[in-house]
Amino acid sequence: MAVRKARAGGRVSATGAHAHTHGSATEIEAGARWSEHAETVLRDAGLRTGGGRAAVVGVLADEGCVLTAHDIVDRLRDQGARGANLATVYRTLDTLRALHLVHRLDAGDGTARYERALPGGEHHHHVLFEDGQIEPFHDDELEQAIHALASRLGVELVGHDIVLHAAPRTS
Ligand SMILES: [Zn+2]
Ligand SMILES: [Zn+2]
Repeated sequence: MAVRKARAGGRVSATGAHAHTHGSATEIEAGARWSEHAETVLRDAGLRTGGGRAAVVGVLADEGCVLTAHDIVDRLRDQGARGANLATVYRTLDTLRALHLVHRLDAGDGTARYERALPGGEHHHHVLFEDGQIEPFHDDELEQAIHALASRLGVELVGHDIVLHAAPRTS
């Protein structure tokens, strides 16, 4: 299993979520793919894709992992969107969730985090450190174990969340 380490220069937000996923070609491509998918789904749902909603979609597309609503507001303001506020961001996130375009991660620490949900079902699991830092991981053996477990339990799997709770990194 490879826990992706924060890249040098990754910004640590007030909540400790890392801007750690920028840069790799596959991640940029995944963001573009998701953003296109989101626009299609929103349009098919008869929703405008302009304005504040498009800005939130843009922030989520640019981030490969989880963001809090506060993180999103901060990024919108960094981009010069002076009117960005929590209420409208939450409203947009609710809309995107209802359309299965974002996944909400409840890591058990009272902070809801959101990340783009790719149409192919690709997903992260996360390590939540005690200092609030959060890092994504993927592990094929874990996926196989979860599917085997579901079949032993005789349930049809429609989703799963895995959060590992870890002590802070010392390195
Ligand atoms: Zn993630
Ligand atoms: Zn999984």
